[in-house]
Amino acid sequence: MNTPRYRRVLLKISGEGLCTPGTTGIDGGQLRRIAAEIKLVVDLGVQVCVVVGGGNIVRGSAIAKQTPIEEATGHYMGMLATVINALAVQDTLESLGVPTRVQSALAIESVCEKFIRRRAIRHLEKGRVVIFAAGTGNPFVTTDTGAALRAAEIHADVLLKATKVDGVYTADPVTDASARRIERLNFNEVIDQRLRVMDLSAVDLCQRNAVPIVVLDLNRPGNMRGVVLGEGIGTVIGAD
Ligand code: UDP
Repeated sequence: MNTPRYRRVLLKISGEGLCTPGTTGIDGGQLRRIAAEIKLVVDLGVQVCVVVGGGNIVRGSAIAKQTPIEEATGHYMGMLATVINALAVQDTLESLGVPTRVQSALAIESVCEKFIRRRAIRHLEKGRVVIFAAGTGNPFVTTDTGAALRAAEIHADVLLKATKVDGVYTADPVTDASARRIERLNFNEVIDQRLRVMDLSAVDLCQRNAVPIVVLDLNRPGNMRGVVLGEGIGTVIGAD
């Protein structure tokens, strides 16, 4: 049965997901793999939007610590990095025949659209993948918060948080062989136990707007499609 569980999904990919582990920049192979995963879901008739991070290029707090750059400036640089990544994801999706639009929280009018909520929803209804760039448009927060914000305002049925592991574990699965995957958590457990799934402000926004989060490994082919078809992949974070 190929009946999607969700009508509209928001995928959050970090900048690190666009490069090979331990490096920076943008890797063509990673881009193609991610775009292929997204296309599998678009082909189900599901509306998809994407929030991209920028950590493969600049993180505001890190660059401010290492240079004379003011922290707020560093954050704006980080937001601009997400625009670079959004353009990379856009062209890769379009090379697969998937129509897209990039909408940025910061106005860069010769490069992409400015974020307009109603327009974004219209693009989604027309079957275009909307890539949201520049996070929230404000410094001192991250693209996780941007993802939660966009998910709430465009009425996404779920926020898919792509990570390096296929869900939330009882311990670090890399170092602890007894670690097991947790299938389901409620928002309060994540917040109270300070589980490092997403920024707490993002989890809080999702809780207040009843947007469930699914933590999944996007590097496993078919995983995103599997989540959308309700195949019990990853960890679901929701209300009780
Ligand atoms: N950023 C920001 N405001 C936002 C989103 C991002 O200032 O709403 C900056 C922040 O400096 C962050 C950088 O952009 O470190 C890159 O985003 P993020 O760290 O979330 O990227 P990811 O870790 O997902 O690759």
